[in-house]
Amino acid sequence: MAVRTVHHRIGGAETAGVSRRTAPVWNPATGEHQADVLLAEAADVDAAVRAARAALPGWADTSVMRRSRLMFAFRALVERHTDDLARIVSSEHGKVFEDARAEVIRGMEMIDFACGIPQLLKGEYSDQVSTEVDLFSFRQPLGVCAGITPFNFPAMVPLWMHPIAIATGNTFVLKPSERDPSVCNLVAELYAEAGLPDGVFNLVHGDRTAVDAILDHPDVAAVSFVGSTPIARYVHERATASGKRVQALGGAKNHAVVLPDADLDGAADHLVAAAYGSAGQRCMAISVAVAVGDVAGPLVALLREKARAIKVGPGLEAGSEMGPVVSPDALARIRGSIASGVEAGADLVVDGREIDVRGDGFFVGPTLFDRVTPEMDVYRDEIFGPVLAVVRAGSLQEAIDLINANDWANGTAIFTSSGRAARLFQRRVQVGMIGVNVPVPVPMAFYSFGGWKQSLFGAHHIHGPEGVAFYTRAKAVTTRWPGEDDGAVDRGDLHFPTAD
Ligand code: NAD
Repeated sequence: MAVRTVHHRIGGAETAGVSRRTAPVWNPATGEHQADVLLAEAADVDAAVRAARAALPGWADTSVMRRSRLMFAFRALVERHTDDLARIVSSEHGKVFEDARAEVIRGMEMIDFACGIPQLLKGEYSDQVSTEVDLFSFRQPLGVCAGITPFNFPAMVPLWMHPIAIATGNTFVLKPSERDPSVCNLVAELYAEAGLPDGVFNLVHGDRTAVDAILDHPDVAAVSFVGSTPIARYVHERATASGKRVQALGGAKNHAVVLPDADLDGAADHLVAAAYGSAGQRCMAISVAVAVGDVAGPLVALLREKARAIKVGPGLEAGSEMGPVVSPDALARIRGSIASGVEAGADLVVDGREIDVRGDGFFVGPTLFDRVTPEMDVYRDEIFGPVLAVVRAGSLQEAIDLINANDWANGTAIFTSSGRAARLFQRRVQVGMIGVNVPVPVPMAFYSFGGWKQSLFGAHHIHGPEGVAFYTRAKAVTTRWPGEDDGAVDRGDLHFPTAD
């Protein structure tokens, strides 16, 4: 039986363009090949950029109030279709339905933020900076902006980008992950239903060919990327070389420190949720627990019990708490990482390879390692699966040193009842986002999101105020309106102007 084809959407119309290549879209819960997604050629990307460029003058000149109202209309539609969007996410990504709903809701909060664009774009004005001279600044859109996004939040991560880019007056080309592409097609339809003019939001599906065509296109002004570190570095280097503004968010290895004075049972609950939620496929997942002092033994016992109690099953089946991983390749990679941990001598406390879920889905269960050390691959690699590694440390300072020696620096957390220890941690640790008794410290839409070191390339964090700054550039205007009676006012000198 022929499978469904996932098309591009360019200039307001679904199209195959010149694409002939496709990639399979799996149902990770069943192993079924449920669709083929078109893989764009450079000519498809060019068509999308041309559509975005054609729509740009009209959209950039649309009043900020109209752009805001459009976001309100779009937001209402996303809210009405929350369950539809979540079902698509769950069926292609694998995460459980409630988790997919939460993803859509966190994404919708980005639209809430973008609805406030009239306030966010207010400039500055200084009266009489020199005699009869006023100075003001305001921000204007960059032009055609592009987004390249990962599989793990197929709805939310693109929503970190396009509502702000569009609300600030840019037009947009999105290249989502080819592994779970369909939710973005529904988002494009909702934009159209909300009244967004054709060409303001365009969708091209694809792989490296599409990405390279975006990075090299002379009419793309800015690129937002979220994905793994090697590709983030590549995107940043190649797109900045062609003169673009770039923010490229990369991978992670997030540590949670547990101090002996923590509420141990509560910390273990949070760690299990943060390590195994979405089968560990979150850039803010906790993949390393740093047990300080004598907390290790009791903590590992609690983690073992709680990890074993997690109900693993299809994402759309009631009662499932953890779904499959995204693809057969991901499953093989994660199983390989577990084997390498065993080989390196780590203590395998819970083995997710033993899980038995009916059918041919890509399931691997919660996995727990104890006595992991920093030179082991299971510590060094971003496994991006449901694998939690416990590292034992002698003191809080040793835990901080471990985190600061790691190349990744997206998120981290500390569990403690000591405000003093928490304060020391938040000041000394070299990581972009920190949780205190909060395991997944993802900032709200009205703050910005971003890691340090190998977790982000570029000067701007994503969404929130830094998102507005990223998608706009400032103009400063100095004005004088001379009149008949201004004989005494400066009429120009060869020296560099100073205020008087
Ligand atoms: P990925 O890097 O494989 O893919 C991301 C995007 O890059 C996709 O659109 C993909 O088509 C494209 N791509 C893949 N290979 C490419 C290549 N060789 N050349 C050009 N483009 C290429 O990432 P993924 O597996 O989809 O997502 C998981 C990764 O994303 C993890 O490393 C995770 O930590 C990271 N992530 C980071 C954040 C963050 O905010 N820092 C958020 C979500 C995910």
